[in-house]
Amino acid sequence: MAPNAEFAVTRIASVNPATGEVLGELDSAGPTEVRSAVARARAAQPDWNAWGIRNRVKALGRFQQILLARKTDIARRIAQEAGKPQVEALLTEVLVVLDAARFLIDNAFAILRDEKLAHGNLAMKSKSGRILHEPYGVVGIISPWNYPFSIPATETLAALVAGNAVVLKPSELTPLIALELEGLLRQAGVPNDIFQVLPGEGETGAALVESEIDKLVFTGSVATGRRIAQTAAQRLLPVVLELGGKDPMIVLEDADVDVASSGAVWGAFVNAGQTCLSIERCYVHQSLYSAFLDACAEKARKLRVGNGMDPSTEIGPMINERQVRIVESHVEDARQRGARVLAGGARLRELGPTFFAPTVLADVDHGMRVMQKDAETFGPVLPIAPFSSDAEAVRLANDSDYGLAASIWTRDRARGERLARQINVGTVMVNDAVSCFSISEAPHGGVKSSGVGRTHGRWGLEEMARVKYIDSDLLPRMKKIWWFGYGGGLAGEMENFVDLLYARPLRQKLKAAVRSAGALWRKKL
Ligand code: NAD
Repeated sequence: MAPNAEFAVTRIASVNPATGEVLGELDSAGPTEVRSAVARARAAQPDWNAWGIRNRVKALGRFQQILLARKTDIARRIAQEAGKPQVEALLTEVLVVLDAARFLIDNAFAILRDEKLAHGNLAMKSKSGRILHEPYGVVGIISPWNYPFSIPATETLAALVAGNAVVLKPSELTPLIALELEGLLRQAGVPNDIFQVLPGEGETGAALVESEIDKLVFTGSVATGRRIAQTAAQRLLPVVLELGGKDPMIVLEDADVDVASSGAVWGAFVNAGQTCLSIERCYVHQSLYSAFLDACAEKARKLRVGNGMDPSTEIGPMINERQVRIVESHVEDARQRGARVLAGGARLRELGPTFFAPTVLADVDHGMRVMQKDAETFGPVLPIAPFSSDAEAVRLANDSDYGLAASIWTRDRARGERLARQINVGTVMVNDAVSCFSISEAPHGGVKSSGVGRTHGRWGLEEMARVKYIDSDLLPRMKKIWWFGYGGGLAGEMENFVDLLYARPLRQKLKAAVRSAGALWRKKL
């Protein structure tokens, strides 16, 4: 690696959070490496764009089949580096990426091809319009550790198919799986400089934001997202920000307690609760409250916590000591303020320092840190509070700085969908949580502090392309009436014309038509 004068080259270690075993060590990329990677990407991108979308789609097809063949191995590596159960690595990471590739293979051409733009302004009827979707050039992607494969891979595939080069700065906690992604894309025929991985900590990410990239897709915490947005604003770098969530779950009085409690336990504890879309606040109608609490506590106690490599494990370790301390402090604060701990509530030290027992808290309120509007808990904690009316549930759900997703649980789908309109978030699921991330057609992203822009689906793909409008005049030999040469009654003629186009009363429209025809006739004479 080239010497780096601007900050000392640091080493980052990838550690298996279940065992503490060091899986690998890497040099961090410094600003010099970041700049030169971006320059190489910029130089290579025009050829990649010239490959054409059909050839890029073929490369995605090869990538998909190579990943399919290696699914078990990749899932194992994700489980080792991020600590999650292998089955989750397969379902929430590998499968999500296979399906994102499927979506892009089937749809990217149709979404990104040139479009003819019809228009309704009669004054402009001599214009023929066309929309082009052009790549930005070099897209920087900065990703977190909690979904170390599916997040950067889905964003990367969309950026690449649109004709961009990508420079990825993965989380310092999970660099090895990002290098696996690089290997898979190379094997699929994506040129070296078109997809590059720069391992490193936050300062490598900061150097990427300051480099000459053309667009940035960031996924991570609100605090980092805000810092990045400030830097990006200096040069109006377009950004997509996928930030945190404090997702509410609302259980209406007609919900099935057994189904909803199983959904709550899974939605709160999947990936040890370290999911942006995980259920962080649960509101249950008072008529079901007690039965729901009992069901959740019983189901939480039965969950098998352990090393993700063990096929029977349902909950793995948390990523590191820092995250465990946040969870501990939120649980302790809730306990001190009167919450009841119905299950878990502490580390499982016999398994290792980063294992935290799936925790169910009852009688929580918004004065507790675990429910506060501006702080994710991001661990295996399910805090539950009662409500007495739909209006109260909506008010509580919306009482948050975050707005990523929410879920509503009811036997009456139409009622759930009606209520969904009142929740101020990017996605509402009725009778499930979290799994919307695996629907490749669906947009992913939030409102309020949860972020800006969307990934996934056609909206995510469109984020990777600049829209260019090409406007061709069909009468090149005719001077336009709106060009200079004002005066001579032109203003009056224009007033008539505007009335002709937009007046609602038929009389006014007809009068304008007669006057316009007269003006035209006089001009002809
Ligand atoms: P983080 O913000 O600490 O780090 C995210 C990435 O940003 C890492 O690669 C990190 O090295 C880098 N980074 C840190 N400081 C930087 C800086 N100053 N400039 C540029 N890059 C910098 O987040 P995390 O702990 O890795 O991830 C967890 C967070 O991500 C949670 O808040 C979670 O809700 C959120 N998240 C959101 C989504 C979503 O789609 N909305 C998905 C997953 C995770």
